[in-house]
Amino acid sequence: MQEDITFGVLEESVVAELRAQMRGELIQPGEEGYDEARKVYNGMIDRRPALIVYCADVADVMSAVNFARENDVLVAVRGGGHNGAGLSVVDGGLVIDLSQMKGIRVDPVTRTVRVDGGCVWNEVDHATHAFGLAVPCGFNSTTGVSGLTLGGGHGYLTRKYGLTIDSLISADLVLADGSFVTASEEENEDLFWAIRGGGGNFGVITSFLFRAHPVSTVYAGPTLWHMDQAADAMRFYRDFMANASEDMYGFFAFLKVPPGPPFPEELHTKTMCAVVWCYTGPAEEAEEAFRPVREFGPPAFELLGPMPLPALNSMFDPLIPPGLQWYWKGDFVNELSDEAIALHVEHGSKIPTLLPTMHMYPIDGAAHRVGKNDTAFSYREAKWSAVYAGIDPDPANKEAISAWAREYWEALHPYSAGGAYVNFMMEEGPERVRATYRENYDRLAAIKHRYDPNNFFRVNQNIEPAV
Ligand SMILES: Cc1cc2nc3c(=O)[nH]c(=O)nc-3n(C[C@H](O)[C@H](O)[C@H](O)COP(=O)(O)OP(=O)(O)OC[C@H]3O[C@@H](n4cnc5c(N)ncnc54)[C@H](O)[C@@H]3O)c2cc1C
Repeated sequence: MQEDITFGVLEESVVAELRAQMRGELIQPGEEGYDEARKVYNGMIDRRPALIVYCADVADVMSAVNFARENDVLVAVRGGGHNGAGLSVVDGGLVIDLSQMKGIRVDPVTRTVRVDGGCVWNEVDHATHAFGLAVPCGFNSTTGVSGLTLGGGHGYLTRKYGLTIDSLISADLVLADGSFVTASEEENEDLFWAIRGGGGNFGVITSFLFRAHPVSTVYAGPTLWHMDQAADAMRFYRDFMANASEDMYGFFAFLKVPPGPPFPEELHTKTMCAVVWCYTGPAEEAEEAFRPVREFGPPAFELLGPMPLPALNSMFDPLIPPGLQWYWKGDFVNELSDEAIALHVEHGSKIPTLLPTMHMYPIDGAAHRVGKNDTAFSYREAKWSAVYAGIDPDPANKEAISAWAREYWEALHPYSAGGAYVNFMMEEGPERVRATYRENYDRLAAIKHRYDPNNFFRVNQNIEPAV
């Protein structure tokens, strides 16, 4: 997507003009900190922007957008920098980095929280948890609020409170023409519809207003089973989740056990299957709620117990620090047939190095109560969002982890619903983006035409403006 674009050279005098307008810092090639500044979370991504601007406020974002438009410079927008395909950094272009925009304000009376576009989820968790509140987010707390929300956002609270976008009340944006607007059910409703799943196609979101929910301590953690129980465990999981209350959430995984505490030594580096649970029901009912899980076949290891939600949201952060190699593919899944389970066990058994993993995240429950045309996120009937993630610290293992993820995906894709979660895609081409949005695509393209007719924001899973 990025290779076929030519760039104007950034004249120093023009850059100086932007520098004079901005409160935040600008970094160009050759300047100190440039190599650090161009990094994103995925260590496989190695791009060299012509300019990186650290916006301090909305005024800086407006200046940066106007600068890029007037000088015909390609723009990438960076929230938390966690995009797998690296779509927040661009060769030869301008990176609008929001990481200095960190304002968060919780209103405990209305149970809402305003979050600036540069926040990551552990910052939101920290602010809301003090009030016994939470916004639905993902399973890793260093992920950016912006990118996750714009794609839809699923995680431990999805079955209970829906996707992250289902808790979005409004958002402030800087559009391609440099103007500032608010999108909500009352203002610019078409834009509000589009940003709830349509990604970064429509403007730079400078802040989000979320509804927060009364979640504080949850009963949560992983249970692990040996691979000879994997097919049975997956079948049990499928049937158990089909009848479980919306307080019960669990994502299924194949993984290798990390070689360290709290895992017992005899399990270290073993390939196993797991479910990572999160129960939001009454504490006194938790033991009973998990009785079937323990009865199915006592797990080889479990770490289930009460914990603050932010502890669960950050539990896996140390295992996946920034800079690892990532290659992943995803699919939405409606049914988990016995045939598909056999393929899962086959490919799950072949994890090539320590970190690659397959996760199946439930996206049913409350997320199903929103219609497939009510927001841009189309797959409202899907039960899971699956991701096949090749992950490794060593670039020498790039091919091995990518091949494993690709082959696993190829085997299971025929059993999928067709499209994939937009936040679990590499650069996979326009057909794959269309498959993700299905009949919502044409409406998205029309809204794109209205707000960004020249496709100024195109470093993303791109929706081309309708002609
Ligand atoms: C370890 C890990 C765990 C994850 N777990 C989950 C999970 O549990 N649930 C889930 O839903 N997703 C999950 N994801 C996927 C995640 O949602 C995406 O990677 C998402 O793109 C990250 O958002 P970001 O702001 O960090 O990314 P960035 O790389 O900064 O941006 C991603 C995209 O959004 C655009 N963008 C970013 N900020 C803005 C903005 N303010 N305005 C307009 N456009 C913007 C960018 O241009 C880019 O196209 C996970 C990712 C990782 C790496």
